[in-house]
Amino acid sequence: MTKEPTCQDDYDPDSLSIDAARTRILDALAPITDHEAVPLNESLGRILASDIHTTVAVPGFRNSAMDGYAFRHADALKTNTLSLAGKSMAGLPFHGTLADSQCIRIMTGALVPDELDTVVMQENTTITADELVIDQLPVAGSNIRQPGSNIKNNSQLFPALTRVGAPELGLLASIGIESVSVLRQLTVAFFSTGDELQPPGKPLGPGQIHDSNRYMLRGLLTSPALNIMDLGILPDTLNDVKQALSETAHCDVVVTSGGVSVGEADYVKAAVEQQGNLAFWKILMKPGRPLSHGQLHSGTHFFGLPGNPVSGMVTFHQFVLPALRALLGQPYTQPLSLVATLTDTLTKLPGRVEFQRGILSTNASGDLQVATTGLQDSHVLTSVHRANCYIELDIQSTGAASGDRVSVIPFQSFPAI
Ligand code: AMP
Ligand code: MG
Repeated sequence: MTKEPTCQDDYDPDSLSIDAARTRILDALAPITDHEAVPLNESLGRILASDIHTTVAVPGFRNSAMDGYAFRHADALKTNTLSLAGKSMAGLPFHGTLADSQCIRIMTGALVPDELDTVVMQENTTITADELVIDQLPVAGSNIRQPGSNIKNNSQLFPALTRVGAPELGLLASIGIESVSVLRQLTVAFFSTGDELQPPGKPLGPGQIHDSNRYMLRGLLTSPALNIMDLGILPDTLNDVKQALSETAHCDVVVTSGGVSVGEADYVKAAVEQQGNLAFWKILMKPGRPLSHGQLHSGTHFFGLPGNPVSGMVTFHQFVLPALRALLGQPYTQPLSLVATLTDTLTKLPGRVEFQRGILSTNASGDLQVATTGLQDSHVLTSVHRANCYIELDIQSTGAASGDRVSVIPFQSFPAI
């Protein structure tokens, strides 16, 4: 269902589209280049600072893909009975010489002697004291892993800016590298603002709430590529916020929660403006309309997220995550979006993109279906906990009915920092 925006809807002519805001943010930052050497064991989640070239092949030698027997295929065409001359184990090669019609016992990963060209799996043989009968002859060359079939010598294994994950750790180890050059960590400071906030563990007075966003932000910002600094809770005064910001000159990024709306207690914008430059945007999205973005000192990127927890989460996913990645040289890619059949009714006013929280699953016929998590208000952080995806409803949408096909973005499709 679509319609032109009217003054009865959620449309605000001063607002910026999500893509336009993200583009402005990404255009305003340059990737870091400083790097450091770290032991391989400490490189998980870090970003390679330079290309990795190989000076070895992996595998480095012909080896068996099976537990079985290695032989010359030409011999086995003449007779199906070969004599056993020895064995080659992983790490303990066969060193003898082989006469015609001789074979060796061989284990997975063991070196295949140059003069042998085929391995038969042991299940396809019958063995007597020192004779092997090949019951099913494999084709010549079978079950031998060739040198370089995993990694070629003199090749580029990874380009610079590759993120080191589990397979990359294994591959770096497999070429014998024990230390890698990675981009330095980004230093990211974060704090909550709000006179109503108390840390967990402190009793609540009338009208007070526990500060949950700083903990959520800690969860979102915990990454081996980031060095995070928790600056605590700040009261809603210009001086407190200015004081905290003045201590962030060495930071690459500052992320704050709350105080960026247009309310009387919203001092974050003013504090940033006095120490740098700031843009305040109303984004055409829900939740998470207000967002502040700017620069502090010379080169500290500032993000002021809205205080409502779900708004903070969505804003983080849409803007802060791509920005942190871009500072680490990681390109922006749209998160994978799928189409699923809605099993509930969703209400929405036209005028903003909405990221409602959904539960994506596969039905009995193997098709994707998505249910709502219920109440979608921006203080309902349980809606994110219960969800595994966003249901993305476009600007014009006026809601969706059970049976409609809707776009979903699995949380897992947001890339790691
Ligand atoms: P604000 O963006 O400061 O106007 O706050 C919007 C709403 O989010 C208010 O209901 C605040 O009480 C709430 N809020 C602000 N900061 C936090 C926080 N750190 N944790 C939980 N809720 C918060
Ligand atoms: Mg506030």
